[in-house]
Amino acid sequence: MTEIDTSKPHPARVYDWFLGGKDNYPVDEAVGRQMMSIDGRAKHSARTNRWFMHRATRWLAGEAGIRQFLDVGTGIPTEPNLHQLAQAAAPDARVVYVDNDPIVLAHAAALLRGTPEGVTEYVQADARRPGEIVERVKAVLDFGQPVALSLIALMHFIGDDDGAYELVEELVGVLPSGSYLVLAQLTGDYDPAAIQRAVELYGAGGVRLVPRSRDGVNRFFAGLDLVEPGLVPVAEWHPELAVDEVPDGQLVPLYAAVGRKA
Ligand code: SAH
Repeated sequence: MTEIDTSKPHPARVYDWFLGGKDNYPVDEAVGRQMMSIDGRAKHSARTNRWFMHRATRWLAGEAGIRQFLDVGTGIPTEPNLHQLAQAAAPDARVVYVDNDPIVLAHAAALLRGTPEGVTEYVQADARRPGEIVERVKAVLDFGQPVALSLIALMHFIGDDDGAYELVEELVGVLPSGSYLVLAQLTGDYDPAAIQRAVELYGAGGVRLVPRSRDGVNRFFAGLDLVEPGLVPVAEWHPELAVDEVPDGQLVPLYAAVGRKA
């Protein structure tokens, strides 16, 4: 396990700060506070993104009948975690979490307390090496049966020149028909100036932030059928599935969609 570097901000820890968690360091909090001065709704945006994960997981385990989940870019545990939502709907759901940040591994125990009927596993791996992820999770997930692959608030940390589209294509490529891709991604479409300042702020801390346009996000779903309501601002994806959410009715700068592999 790699040492936890507390000298530079890390995406997982800044996000944890936004969500009100305790697993972050002064450098992460400093970036979070500066983000709040650029966009006073940044914490709300993080929560709104998290709520999308809740609703999408409820929909997949419920309506779509999915029993296997591969969540890449999991983040530091924040209840409810994906496996708790999936296993609440389907106790036999099998969930594999993947993240490349050692702090997530350090807290992974909370991700592994699932139902006795189900399975939860954690794998430390880099999304930019999809082949390695597939190799390591195939002992737990049956790639002969549908899988929901979630890449939620992950792809805006991976540039096109770092193989963003290729890695999604490769992961989706190994999944059988009836599988789903769940994705949420930061966009500068609504407030380009604020997002540009966010890119600079993260960049100054050594974190690359890659907002994408609507077309750029849509491209991740190439060859997939988008589930209703299609690619939408993150709060607008099946709001009727909300439990304990406090939406403010304003746009949050992330797009989200769920696509099905035919
Ligand atoms: N999916 C969660 C957490 C999003 S925060 C949610 O939406 O609530 C983004 C996460 O992606 C962080 O935990 C960060 O460590 C992880 N991440 C960033 N780049 C990654 C990479 N190349 N491989 C794997 N995980 C990565």
